[in-house]
Amino acid sequence: MNTYQQPDAAGHFGIYGGSFVSETLTHAIIELRQAYAHYQNDPEFLAEFQYELAHFVGRPSPVYHAARMSREVGGAQIYLKREDLNHTGAHKINNTIGQAMLAKRMGKTRIIAETGAGQHGVATATICARYGMECVVYMGAEDIKRQSPNVYRMKLLGATVVPVHSGSKTLKDALNEAMRDWVANVDNTFYIIGTVAGPHPYPMMVRDFQSVIGKECLTQMPHILARTGLHSQQPDAVIACVGGGSNAMGIFYPYIDHPQTRLIGVEAAGEGLESGKHSASLQRGSPGVLHGNRTFILQDENGQITETHSISAGLDYPGVGPEHAYLQEIGRAEYVGITDSEALGAFHYLCRTEGIIPALESSHAVAYAKKLAATLRQDQSILVNLSGRGDKDIGTVADLSQGDFYCRPSCQGQSVKGAEQPVKVFK
Ligand SMILES: *Cc1c(COP(=O)(O)O)cnc(C)c1O
Repeated sequence: MNTYQQPDAAGHFGIYGGSFVSETLTHAIIELRQAYAHYQNDPEFLAEFQYELAHFVGRPSPVYHAARMSREVGGAQIYLKREDLNHTGAHKINNTIGQAMLAKRMGKTRIIAETGAGQHGVATATICARYGMECVVYMGAEDIKRQSPNVYRMKLLGATVVPVHSGSKTLKDALNEAMRDWVANVDNTFYIIGTVAGPHPYPMMVRDFQSVIGKECLTQMPHILARTGLHSQQPDAVIACVGGGSNAMGIFYPYIDHPQTRLIGVEAAGEGLESGKHSASLQRGSPGVLHGNRTFILQDENGQITETHSISAGLDYPGVGPEHAYLQEIGRAEYVGITDSEALGAFHYLCRTEGIIPALESSHAVAYAKKLAATLRQDQSILVNLSGRGDKDIGTVADLSQGDFYCRPSCQGQSVKGAEQPVKVFK
């Protein structure tokens, strides 16, 4: 059954992954590897993890048939895995709970994290509040300005948010600062990384914690497909957005040994893959070492990390988890791009058509699902990982939409209540 066995003992996914850390961190990494190896199959650990996911996060999250959207698109049936309904509003909490539980068992009393948009910082602050652990979150000074509601959330939850003023004052600088803190405080400190990146064992460990998403889908899909009158057991395609790649690995991993299901990762194409303003590391990057592992990164001829861009802060990362680089190389997963404006369109579309406000990150996956569904038959199916809810994004959307509201093609020519400006129709 399980023919896919990655990574190897040293954390390699083919030529990707591994562990590139300074000597001062070697001990901490080995300690973490040993602890995870000990607990990853420990029945008591797994039972507590299950309990937390059920009682604190609200799992299992439902799979929802987007019937109106499917009918309107006129092709494959589209289903949404509702990670947006989790406590804190996204998939990130699944992973922070797992790592915080490990930290407790390792006797660590202090948690550090880095955050870009603030989502991982909030998920980390949340579990630290619940476990009564000290929480320090590093965040670029520029990001602090752009993401003030999440900064306030972290403070409400009792975390200390440390502004990082070096470099471009964004995520990659916050990452370096968190690493520095870890080196100085390894004895009592656990570093919670928010995606399937970092040195081994992080990419594997984060994938394992997030794979609850795909495992639930494997049991949910046969029932929900049958209810829609479809005869297949599993979807023809699974689609997820890819920033660092944790929500995508979480839903892909249990499907890797189901070769009849296509796995499609959607990167942020920003202003277009040819524009140079995007975050599509797998499609436009090249192999290199970033944040402790070998993977695909966006770099110039001199190996300097290039500036990235996306409408969604959560996809704005110059690297990607090493396992995605491997899945792309062996051809088990495909990676495509969705632009800012396509994602914005899908955001409005899902609001109006299904009554769900998606995160801008997740809107990339929704946009690609719309495109793909139109090319498939009505008895085929697509499962989209709706990684988070979009309440955090409404300010961005309001600015970008310049007051325009959108309606579905079927309401063309009608006025839309509440819209003071002319209503635009979806393409
Ligand atoms: C952080 C975030 C992402 C991107 O992170 P991955 O590790 O690629 O999953 C996607 N969606 C939401 C809602 C997020 O908060």
